[in-house]
This record gives sequence, structure tokens and C-alpha cells, in this order.
Amino acid sequence: MKIMLLGTPGSGKGTLAQSLSSGVGLPHISTGDIFRAAIHHKTKLGLEVKTILASGKLVPDELTCSIVFERLTEPDARQGFLLDGFPRTIPQAETFDRKMELDSVILLELDEETNVTRLTERLICPDCGAIYHRTFRPPQKADVCDTCGGTPVQRPDDQIEVVNKRLEEYYRLTAPLIRHYEDKQKIHRFNALQSPAALLHEVQSFLQNL
Ligand code: ADP
Ligand code: ZN
Repeated sequence: MKIMLLGTPGSGKGTLAQSLSSGVGLPHISTGDIFRAAIHHKTKLGLEVKTILASGKLVPDELTCSIVFERLTEPDARQGFLLDGFPRTIPQAETFDRKMELDSVILLELDEETNVTRLTERLICPDCGAIYHRTFRPPQKADVCDTCGGTPVQRPDDQIEVVNKRLEEYYRLTAPLIRHYEDKQKIHRFNALQSPAALLHEVQSFLQNL
């Protein structure tokens, strides 16, 4: 199954993908995670994209596509994958659609106010990528990642000024993908306001019947 998760930054794509991945046995491929890991490890890619991510803009299409296609050739992606954060522009979608066909695009929908506070309250573990929310889903022990013992922190791009820029970029460059995949009858809408567990359950039953 080739699945794509679509929705604003903060709609919960990453949280959903992390728990869905083991349930459906498909790798979670997040371009944001790939870029952040590269920055964390100071690789050539990391140096190239660091200021772009910090500003809330998008990494150039060509670079993003080549990173994704390289990742998709790895053996674990042969049976399918959960794409999180890609494609994110119409040119990326067109490049992708020429190579493969998605089975479904899971669109997560929520109101703007919740969206913004989810981002500004979010904490992420720099070592394993686990996602937390200061108020609603804090780590069990303060400042200690449940999964790996790392220290969850705020992402630099989750500060309010950058959040606004990212949402602006989403509506300008990414939201047109809804129409693009609606025309191909791939869009399936889900209410992203429900609890992570309820959303997971709903998406899992949907995928079982796909
Ligand atoms: P979010 O969806 O919460 O913004 P991500 O982790 O998906 O977070 O992405 C973080 C940043 O990584 C984006 O703001 C952008 O700079 C870059 N990025 C991720 N995916 C793409 C993509 N497909 N194309 C271009 N840039 C991307
Ligand atoms: Zn961790």
C-alpha cells in the first residue's frame, strides 16, 4: 500500500504515522525527519537545508525529490510506505505521479486555532523523533523521552513567527494538492481534532477496507 498523509503542519501527520507504521507494517517516510536527522548529524545535506528549515520555507523540489526517491529504493519500502510531508508542492506531486501511483491520500482536517497551539506546544525528541505536546501528551517523566531517554525540545521552526510562515507556505504551495488528488479520487478526509488513539483507529479500519 502506498499511502500519503496530507494536512497542515501541526495537523498530526507525524504522530499518526509513527503509530500507524508498526500497525500496518509499512515504513514511515518523513521528509522533515530526514532533513532534521541530517541537520542533527551535520551532514552535507544538513548544512544545505538548515537555514531553509529554520526560516519555514520549503527545500527546493529537485533536492527533495531526489532524497525521497533514494529512500524509496530501500528494501523496506518495497511493499509500500506511509509518506509524511511529501509531496508538498504540485511539481513534487507531478514528479512522483510519473513514477508511481498512490493508493490513498489521508487528509487530516482541523481548525486554525488548534492548529497553531499544537505547533507552539509541541516538543520533539532530537534523538529518535518522538513527538509530544506540553499539555496534552507530555513525556511520562518530565524532559525524558519515553522511547529513548533523550531530551524532548521545541523545534526551532515551532516558534510562532516561523509557524505563521509555514502555514502560509502550506496554503500557498501544498493546499493545491487537495484538488490535484481529488481529481484522481484519492483523497479521504479525517477529523484531526479527535484523540490520537481515536484517529489511529479510524484510519486503521479505513485502510483495512481499502
Ligand atoms: P511540518 O509538516 O510540521 O511543517 P515537517 O517535519 O514535515 O513539518 O517539515 C519541516 C520542514 O522540512 C518544512 O518546513 C520544510 O522546510 C522541510 N520539508 C519537509 N518536507 C518537504 C518537502 N516535501 N518539500 C520541501 N520542503 C520540505
Ligand atoms: Zn527519543
